[in-house]
Amino acid sequence: MGNFVVSLDFELIWGVIDLPMLEGYKGNVRGVQQAIPRLLELADRYGIKLTFGVVGFLLFKNRKELEPYLPELRPSYLKPNISPYTYMKNTDVDNECHFAPDLVAMIKQHPQHELATHTFCHYYCMEAGQTIEEFEADLKCALKIAQEKGIDLKSLIFPRNQCKAEYLKICKGLGFTSYRGNETNMLHSENYENVPEILKRMLRLIDTYLPITGSNSSTVEEMESDVIANIRASRFFRPYSNTLRIIEPLKMRRILKEMTKAAKKGNTYHLWWHPHNVGINQEENFAQIESIFRHYKRLNEEYGFESKTMNELANELKGNG
Ligand SMILES: [Zn+2]
Repeated sequence: MGNFVVSLDFELIWGVIDLPMLEGYKGNVRGVQQAIPRLLELADRYGIKLTFGVVGFLLFKNRKELEPYLPELRPSYLKPNISPYTYMKNTDVDNECHFAPDLVAMIKQHPQHELATHTFCHYYCMEAGQTIEEFEADLKCALKIAQEKGIDLKSLIFPRNQCKAEYLKICKGLGFTSYRGNETNMLHSENYENVPEILKRMLRLIDTYLPITGSNSSTVEEMESDVIANIRASRFFRPYSNTLRIIEPLKMRRILKEMTKAAKKGNTYHLWWHPHNVGINQEENFAQIESIFRHYKRLNEEYGFESKTMNELANELKGNG
């Protein structure tokens, strides 16, 4: 029977500190305060289990509380502007855009969902300069604060989906069971490495509305691994766009069709986004999320399509192997 996985990269502002849109994103980030409770409520209504990959920094109340927990070994990126440690030196780190212990506590009150990690500092594994030891130090900090908050971290979502084979062994050694790998389709394939990034981005945007990569979902074989399970992404839920509103129904049709196909084939369909993506245009975004969840419910009744967290699915795969 097929599985439905929904994962959220919960990071507030930490994922965009190096990007020019930082200021413009603050509205999105502020909207997360309402978006998380709305999402939890909808998930309850339709029996959906969510996996939240949380940036470790978010578990603290403020900068003062965070500082004693910072690792000694920090990512030595060649580009200093991508490091949150450099950013913190030069920025007024306000609580609203950088910390969310109450929202994490709220998620924890719904034990059907999984609290996973998105690393401690939103760590980039493929960036030049950083080392595997620095990565391990980062994950250990994430585990430490999680443990203090009574959270058992089992799954990992790599920031910008940057993942390296040898880093997965570190994850396994620290007790992780799963991570979210890239989609398997051609737009994420290494064979297309030489295609310019801007062209790939454009094609991915078109693929949101038109099936240029076909129908995405994963088989058991595509998720199993000797290291930790690869609960592969099937699709990024692109938030509602006012500019593209005429073709929004195409996006929805594409997602619902892919879900139906996965349910019929017994595959896993893994949808992901960031809570701040739906922090604006909330009425439109939540109407779309609700129709996805409603469709899941139908597929659950008709085909036994089942909502699972990443760790639950990883444990099942282990059982199969
Ligand atoms: Zn991220």
